[in-house]
Amino acid sequence: MRITNCHTHTFTDAHIPARYPHWGLMPFKRAPGLVKGLAFAARLLGQEGAAASLRRLHRFQQEARLPAQADIFAQLVAQYPRGTRFVVLPMQMAGMGQGACRASLAQQHDELAEMARAWPGLVIPFATCDPRLPGAAEEVRRCIEELGFRGLKLYPRLGFAPDHPVLMREVYPRLNDRGLALVSHCSRGGVTGNVTRADADAFSHPMAFAPVLRAFPRLQVNLAHMGGQCDWEAYITEGLNPYDPHARARNFLVTLREMIESGDFPNLWTDVSYTLFQSEAFLPFLRLFLDHPRLRARTLFGSDFYMTRQEELSERAVAVRLRAGLGEALFRQIAETNPEAWLGEG
Ligand SMILES: [Zn+2]
Repeated sequence: MRITNCHTHTFTDAHIPARYPHWGLMPFKRAPGLVKGLAFAARLLGQEGAAASLRRLHRFQQEARLPAQADIFAQLVAQYPRGTRFVVLPMQMAGMGQGACRASLAQQHDELAEMARAWPGLVIPFATCDPRLPGAAEEVRRCIEELGFRGLKLYPRLGFAPDHPVLMREVYPRLNDRGLALVSHCSRGGVTGNVTRADADAFSHPMAFAPVLRAFPRLQVNLAHMGGQCDWEAYITEGLNPYDPHARARNFLVTLREMIESGDFPNLWTDVSYTLFQSEAFLPFLRLFLDHPRLRARTLFGSDFYMTRQEELSERAVAVRLRAGLGEALFRQIAETNPEAWLGEG
């Protein structure tokens, strides 16, 4: 089986703003051991929010402090069988209002292109952009037309809508013409830009992509994380009134499944990254959800490496748990068959 992991990252601390996640934490970014101790103390004191953000910082430090994207990639390759391919997604955080990054977006893309040349066929590079920043559409064009990148990654939680005019007029038409793939972060977790949590959630909601899916039917859109861990937890733990349409519409997981299963959005995909790596309790639900033929044909294997480094188990341990839990035929569908179709290789 040729596995394609459709969601990985290799960006380094050169691509993270100096003041992220908070300017008060700047001194700790230079002393990772201290951060780990503080995270433990915060957890003891019941400061889950603080503990979580410190853990996030520590996680970034462990992997992101490696000097080059290729160093991070070398760690990722070691977690999978020979021949596994990786979609590598860059990140532009310069528009967060948290200070500049040491490396520009063009430099991040160039380094990724170099890595794709060093690992021919195994690194599948995607571009990224923040449509609010100058030169966004031109940089995406350069990546696709000159560097041979295979798709685009977006992160609306940073503070822009998926139907931002620059994307609608200058970016999506070019991708749509070529039938290229797009990944968009779709969960209540992750990085939030200089906007309220409610706004970031509204930009991330699966239905926020509906106008894009309708206007660009050849664009193959992966709304990543299958709704995200918060909405999986709410669905499983608190439950959900099946007769309350508003409750259903608020839950990302339920909405996303309905959008795909309805057949109204044939160019809509999702991946299991991070969410399925976060809790063992989610796996039987995924197994059941994949009984629906449309969802089964639109679900992609992805992990969100190196974000998963904060979890207890290694990447390899979780990937194998997923493979064993789904069975060989179903795992092949999401890890080999579907990725090839999504990337336009089928
Ligand atoms: Zn990710």
